[in-house]
Amino acid sequence: MHVTFLGTSGAIPTTERNTSSVLVRREGERFLFDVGEGTQRQMMRYGTGFDVSHVFLTHLHGDHVLGLPGLLQTWDFNDREAALAIHTAPGTKPAVENLVTAAGTRPSYPVRVDEVSPGSVALGGDDFEVRAFETEHRTRSVGYALVEDDRKGRFDRERAEELGVPVGPKFSKLHDGQSVELDDGTVVDPEQVVGDPRPGRRVVYTGDTRPTDAVERAAEGADLLVHDATFADEDAERAPRTGHSTAREAAELAASAGVNRLALTHVSSRYGGYAGHLGEQAREVFEDAFVAEDGQGVDVPYPDAD
Ligand SMILES: [Zn+2]
Ligand SMILES: [Zn+2]
Repeated sequence: MHVTFLGTSGAIPTTERNTSSVLVRREGERFLFDVGEGTQRQMMRYGTGFDVSHVFLTHLHGDHVLGLPGLLQTWDFNDREAALAIHTAPGTKPAVENLVTAAGTRPSYPVRVDEVSPGSVALGGDDFEVRAFETEHRTRSVGYALVEDDRKGRFDRERAEELGVPVGPKFSKLHDGQSVELDDGTVVDPEQVVGDPRPGRRVVYTGDTRPTDAVERAAEGADLLVHDATFADEDAERAPRTGHSTAREAAELAASAGVNRLALTHVSSRYGGYAGHLGEQAREVFEDAFVAEDGQGVDVPYPDAD
């Protein structure tokens, strides 16, 4: 799984940072989380590919959605035929429908807009799902957690051969959890040769939010948490007033949720040229924190990868 930060600025873009968007590539599929103005050019610039099947919107503030009309139009010019699903917070579907037709006509490919309430599954794949969770941002908003299913345990080939299982289809039967009978009548059970299930990966994107208990629960054990970090310590009093977080608050949440890595994003334009202190403040609390930069790509390996 690979994550590309397309826009890491707060409400107002700067020369270094575009408004919010994160692209996640997983097993050949691309998902876009928020679509700030100019997202399509960021996709071109950073070579993420254009083939997006699902868009997940956290809330209807302009810095998270104004890139949608342009991107939809470009897909139309490119003769897109594949259906597009747009997932959005409860009560925001009419406004998103307006964005879909903002430039006059509806795209010629199918576009479906679905509201998703916190706690429910926005997208259920074969071996993963994207769940919405509750955030707190002075408007209707949700965050999203991409959670992969557990994978099969490791198959102990050596042990299987010791037990007399012949190399071949009986190996995969065992790995799939079925017992097999050998020629001499001995039965070998999967528990004898297959290890415990191994956890999948989790990427959690909060969108704009205060650091709440609900966000912490959703972030539990995430391999990568992408969290609102609009403000530095010196502007901390602004965070609750505007429904945002400081970098330090994001780090505190990451620490209690036991996440692996924390990406700080939605950096206020007031820190224009330099946002390094946000990272420093966060790392005082949680070591594996970094300020995400536009164009930065992050690999998300399996938790048990070497
Ligand atoms: Zn925002
Ligand atoms: Zn917002």
